[in-house]
Amino acid sequence: LRDGRPARQMPFGPDSLTRVILVSSGKGGVGKSTVTANLAVALAARGLRVGLIDADVHGFSIPGLLGIEPGTQPTRIDDLMLPPVAHDVKTISIGMFLRDGEQVVAWRGPMLHRTVQQFLTDVFFGDLDVLLVDMPPGTGDIAISIGQILPHAEVLVVTTPQPAAADVAIRSGLVARRTGQKVIGVVENMAALALPDGTTLDLFGSGGGAEVAAALEVPLLASIPLSPALRVGGDAGMPVVLAEPQDSAAQAITALADAV
Ligand code: ADP
Repeated sequence: LRDGRPARQMPFGPDSLTRVILVSSGKGGVGKSTVTANLAVALAARGLRVGLIDADVHGFSIPGLLGIEPGTQPTRIDDLMLPPVAHDVKTISIGMFLRDGEQVVAWRGPMLHRTVQQFLTDVFFGDLDVLLVDMPPGTGDIAISIGQILPHAEVLVVTTPQPAAADVAIRSGLVARRTGQKVIGVVENMAALALPDGTTLDLFGSGGGAEVAAALEVPLLASIPLSPALRVGGDAGMPVVLAEPQDSAAQAITALADAV
């Protein structure tokens, strides 16, 4: 009971019509948040009602990627919170729940668990077609918490083409599966860069995406090339799928939005 009222039910349970897609990776820096933000915007551009939860406690980069001003808070109405909307995506970040200077990475497991549960019950997203969750990298407490709170969630695993990234990505997919989630596919990011002379540069090697997909027995849904425009769009808070839809990374992410 809160203030004498019955506790609200978590709206994304097994009976909900909302697809919940967790975007995971084995390690940080593979572009998971960048891919998640662009995928959310690409799905919203198709007319879907999209929510995005930034649960990456180590980075919470989603607000910046979507151009949400630092310090922006959900709008509070009684005990409900309305998420800020950016590029038609209703977005909430764990960073919006921190007191000044507080470091969420210092929280213990139960605190993280409660916060995630609060995200899911007290933030009023309304009816959504898709809820994306930008997961913390790896297989830590919060990944397992979210697995318990949303056992019917689907999982996308993001990796780079590098063998070392692929190994940890496979592990994160296997852990998600053990908590009952369904791994629906792999996204390879930072694939070969197209050079002006028509050749390509495999900066991070090749084959990681296919390797993870084969190990998890799921499809490789996208291979997103290295792209200066993707990085620039992220820094500017204007996702490349909107800013430069002709860019090769933008096209790969737009195709991913069709494939999920
Ligand atoms: P993660 O969420 O996995 O930690 P980020 O999404 O924060 O990774 O991306 C890490 C950095 O790599 C960011 O600076 C981002 O702009 C850049 N980046 C991600 N994907 C690409 C890409 N395909 N091409 C160029 N830069 C990229």
